[in-house]
Amino acid sequence: MIVTVKCSHCGREFSKKFEDEKVLRVLLHGELVQDVFPELSADDRELFFISQICGDCWDEIFDEDIENKIELSAEEFADSK
Ligand SMILES: [Zn+2]
Repeated sequence: MIVTVKCSHCGREFSKKFEDEKVLRVLLHGELVQDVFPELSADDRELFFISQICGDCWDEIFDEDIENKIELSAEEFADSK
């Protein structure tokens, strides 16, 4: 089947063809995505089966997190002086 998802962050649509039987194993039987689709990239696993957030957005979110953390630790460093 073709699975189409809309990224919940940027709203872009992505489609990819998966074997029906494998999709059912994940969605109906709750098997781990990484066990059923070991060949799928982490980005695609997240996008299609886990969080519906695309790789680009993950990078963006992750970058923001890192920047926030760096800022925070700089503040902590200043406070400790
Ligand atoms: Zn996105």
